[in-house]
Amino acid sequence: MESFSDNYNNWHWQNAQAVTTIRQLAEALNLPENDLAGLNTAISLHPLKITPYYLSLLKQDKPDGPLRKMVVPSASELTTSPEEISDPIGDYGKYRPVPRLTHRHPERILISPTMACAGYCRYCFRRARVGKNSLTWSASNRREALNYLTAHVEIKEVILTGGDPLMLPDAELIALLQDLRQIPHIRILRLHTRMPAYNPFRITETLIQSLAELNPLWIVTHFNHPAELTPTLESYLKPLSRVLPLLNQSVLLRGINDNVATLRELFWRLGELEIKPYYLHHPDQALGTRHLRPDLKTGRDLWKKLWGTMPGYLMPQYVLDIPGGHGKIPLNYQYAAEEKEKFRVTHPQSTKTSLYGET
Ligand SMILES: *Cc1c(COP(=O)(O)O)cnc(C)c1O
Ligand code: SF4
Repeated sequence: MESFSDNYNNWHWQNAQAVTTIRQLAEALNLPENDLAGLNTAISLHPLKITPYYLSLLKQDKPDGPLRKMVVPSASELTTSPEEISDPIGDYGKYRPVPRLTHRHPERILISPTMACAGYCRYCFRRARVGKNSLTWSASNRREALNYLTAHVEIKEVILTGGDPLMLPDAELIALLQDLRQIPHIRILRLHTRMPAYNPFRITETLIQSLAELNPLWIVTHFNHPAELTPTLESYLKPLSRVLPLLNQSVLLRGINDNVATLRELFWRLGELEIKPYYLHHPDQALGTRHLRPDLKTGRDLWKKLWGTMPGYLMPQYVLDIPGGHGKIPLNYQYAAEEKEKFRVTHPQSTKTSLYGET
């Protein structure tokens, strides 16, 4: 057995020491006693997990601050709105040919080798499945997924998602990526992770060296607020950004990042860390998350205000998934509309339109 002692910079230690009960959380953050019963129910629906590292950020945050809203359970989670469902993006059902694999788009597929995460986000779109009983896939799930990938020669890209694939031990993760690399028609690998936000110490030198040999491999991080992009995170992520391309997905969250100043700072800070903002997701209609969803108009107006004030490469696509698994829908306003043989075009920050076309 390895011993992980009380080493703060060890990701196993961070994972093992994470707060998982309301009692621990209430003590750490001085939560008011009256509300705790509701919070216990909330975490029976979607677990609680906060690493000591992220907890230290929460301690600097206001009681209703943005980072706390992302991970501290709320009694509002017990209220379900009529539009909310357990599979808001259609991951299950007809696009799931074998367990742990979603094949919606012909050339790229998702696999979830684990449903465990480095921390549990209260707004999680997969909250009905994530962090539940059988976290890691079985040997037969793995075999079935690899057989499916081998048989489907149209597949060009495999995306590891979850849960969080970086919850797998190095040996298991690297063996899986190597097995995927052996399939000749798979050209690109991708790994989606929120681990760096909750447990940046996971990005060890050893991991970086192993991942670097598996390229082309795109890493897609998940940060929602500039306060998550700490100097500690930067020191762990920079060496990774030197060897692999990094993209980021954010979720637009009510009272957390749904204002121009926060998004601007988030995207500039991602740029400094050499991470390209890829998607800004409108939150999915997952059970008990109404209090964290802004309306679409808010999101579209924010995107419009940011366009042209930010470098183009720091502007993510604002997208929505709808039930049934139709795939992502871009949500920006339309700035070009067909008119006769030409186009009526409008700059996002102007009301003046012009007709564009060859004469
Ligand atoms: C989001 C998603 C992908 C990846 O989409 P990209 O636009 O390539 O990032 C792939 N499969 C499914 C089922 C998805 O929901
Ligand atoms: S890291 Fe992703 S899958 Fe895990 S709880 Fe957060 S949103 Fe859900």
